[in-house]
Amino acid sequence: MNLKEKLENNIRLSYDDALALYDMDLLELGTYASKIREERFGKKTYYNVNRHINPTNICKDVCQFCAYSASRKNPNQYTMTHEEILSTLENSVKNGIKEVHIVSAHNPNTGLKWYLEIFKKIKERYPQLHVKALTAAEIHFLSQEYNKTYQEIIDLMCKYGVDSMPGGGAEIFDEDVRKRVCGGKVTSAQWLEIHKLWHNMDKKSNATMLFGHIETRANRIDHMIRLRDLQDQTNGFNAFIPLVYQKENNFLKVTDFPTAQEILKTFAISRIVLDNIPNLKAYWVTSSIKLALIAQEFGANDLDGTIEKESINSAAGAASANGMRQTEFIDLIKNSGFTPVERDSLYHETATLK
Ligand code: SF4
Repeated sequence: MNLKEKLENNIRLSYDDALALYDMDLLELGTYASKIREERFGKKTYYNVNRHINPTNICKDVCQFCAYSASRKNPNQYTMTHEEILSTLENSVKNGIKEVHIVSAHNPNTGLKWYLEIFKKIKERYPQLHVKALTAAEIHFLSQEYNKTYQEIIDLMCKYGVDSMPGGGAEIFDEDVRKRVCGGKVTSAQWLEIHKLWHNMDKKSNATMLFGHIETRANRIDHMIRLRDLQDQTNGFNAFIPLVYQKENNFLKVTDFPTAQEILKTFAISRIVLDNIPNLKAYWVTSSIKLALIAQEFGANDLDGTIEKESINSAAGAASANGMRQTEFIDLIKNSGFTPVERDSLYHETATLK
């Protein structure tokens, strides 16, 4: 069976098949990706009303692509107290957020309790909020720093009220490229192992891929297939999130930024290759809202959320520092020909707007 016959019959693609998709015409690729999206979701596009908080930017790691860490080019160190985090949330809860998404740098000065007790305090004050927190990279850091196994950290996360794990820290799994972009932090095998342990607790997580830097197309396909293999075992990933590399203020010195065509092809290929991960998120923070809206025609069925404030990608040049109003978000989805559907953090639909 040739590649087009496989696509027409929904046959799972091999690594070579998947790589060959990049040679296909963009619009033809989009048609195949859209067909899968439409079969599963029709015209629905999911979003959620959430708040991102990045409680500290002090980091003992030195990822070359990072503009956020205070130990690198950003001289403005900060570490929020728990009271500051709670009072930040107060307004957001009044604005109707359903989820708080907490991701930090790897700060060796705070102690383990600073990382964990905030989740308990949030749950005590706002029991209705879904807490999405601690990437696999943070879990690896905490395990090393405080001499605990991954399972022990995961047990503590459950005990302190973490509901689901974000997908960050995956970057790109290829070991050689990984060494150059973020050598020293969680390895690919460790990242996958941590998510497997989390899924084994009957919990859900997301998976990201940072692309558009020094990786090749083959590296991206390898990344997707490693995730697909784990998903076959655990079925614990809710969403795949291709993150477009941001080029400002870091040490990676990338000169060839991916074209819009390359970004859209990567979305479409993700939708086709990751046949077992239900949701494909166009995270507008890194792709730009315009490209995220177009990505709906290339397989994406989720645009993440309002986020309110974001520090990590905006430090590297993304226009996300102040989030987006919910009404604006809804109008953009509607005006692009799709139906906005508010979802909760585990992808249950909560409101459809005609
Ligand atoms: S990407 Fe994360 S782990 Fe790496 S340097 Fe930046 S804050 Fe630290």
